[in-house]
Amino acid sequence: MEIEKAVEAMRKPLQLWRRDFHQYAEAGFMEMRTASIVASTLEALGYTVFAGEEVMKKEARMGVPDQSVLEAHERWALENGADAKWLSKVTDGMTGVVGMLDTGKSGPVVAFRVDMDALEIQEAMTDDHIPFTEGFSSVVANRMHACGHDGHTAIGLGLASLLMQNKDALNGVFKLIFQPAEEGTRGAKSMTEAGIVDDVDYFIATHLGTGVKAREFVAGNAGFLATTKMDVMFTGKAAHAGAEPNEGKNALMAASSAVLGLYGIPRHADGASRINVGVLEAGTGRNVIPSGALLKIETRGETSAINQYVREQAVAVLKGAAAMYQTEVDIRVVGEALSSEPSRELVDIVAKAAAQSPYLDHVVNYDDQSAGSEDATYFMERVKEKGGLATYVIVGTTLAAGHHNEKFDYEEDVLPTGVDVLFRTAVALVRESK
Ligand SMILES: [Zn+2]
Repeated sequence: MEIEKAVEAMRKPLQLWRRDFHQYAEAGFMEMRTASIVASTLEALGYTVFAGEEVMKKEARMGVPDQSVLEAHERWALENGADAKWLSKVTDGMTGVVGMLDTGKSGPVVAFRVDMDALEIQEAMTDDHIPFTEGFSSVVANRMHACGHDGHTAIGLGLASLLMQNKDALNGVFKLIFQPAEEGTRGAKSMTEAGIVDDVDYFIATHLGTGVKAREFVAGNAGFLATTKMDVMFTGKAAHAGAEPNEGKNALMAASSAVLGLYGIPRHADGASRINVGVLEAGTGRNVIPSGALLKIETRGETSAINQYVREQAVAVLKGAAAMYQTEVDIRVVGEALSSEPSRELVDIVAKAAAQSPYLDHVVNYDDQSAGSEDATYFMERVKEKGGLATYVIVGTTLAAGHHNEKFDYEEDVLPTGVDVLFRTAVALVRESK
């Protein structure tokens, strides 16, 4: 009927946005082109737009690329279609954007979060990969939207557009949050600490895919593991391996001992935990005592408390291993996320609204099978702390390959479906509290 017609009218623009963002894939804190286009689109729609330092706390970002990398990317963005006016606000790794629509009528503050970053993967250039055959695969080497965040950004803009079209029939305030650097769980904390969700009554984060089938929808996804990502650098002293090995301080040995110790951290009685050493790089030459070693590690826990336990144990192991070989150790937290339970009351409202969508056959209220991590949990926990309700929803779609794979792709039908469900949710939420 009316909603369906409006959603169908968005189908083409949604596809164009998605394909444009896909083609110009940008990694975390470098979503300058994407964010500038998001901001200018929201502004053109009539939104009050906040960006960069207005919506992010600089010091709370984690794993920000080097200054030289950021500056080079800004030049690239300008040459590749960024909106020049907004680009100047989203430089320097401050790529968050929030669009606000105040209907002027009393009602709740409803916030929707989407993320914008791509991954460091080389996209497949094969005839079975639709973005390649249809000519919108990533033009950037080793950067690819392989998790669907291009679609999330498009859905965010489509929802913004639909809300604005129906402004007169709605009440309350809508906030559309476009988050940077979800990959590696690095960006949400800085937006949370800038206070952008402190006044939010209802918060909804969205993801597409993740194994949920086409025409299915999950209204409350739980089971996100809390996580901490750390870069660890051991620094020792190089020496001649034959002439004076006793003069060296062996960073490779310290790192290797640490790896074994990390995997030996006891389990926790309260629930599941994980530890992984994903990278170990050390040494410079066969006959040199290695003076440097880098580990990239992550801890996870079923609850934030369990993750905290694993993290503390890991730090003790790293420091102990450094002491054993008289090396220095520098431990840098480059990403972190909490665990979070969706608010059941909100899940029920969302599920009921979703059941009205003509694009869905099946709505799951609550699912705790995730085992991934997500930093939207920072927003969720803050909203709940302040007395609001929060949930994390998943819009199902058929995937060509798994998330973070070079052939990852989804059906573009998921874009109108996402907009439809989120718009129906928005309407339900403002009616609910009238
Ligand atoms: Zn993702």
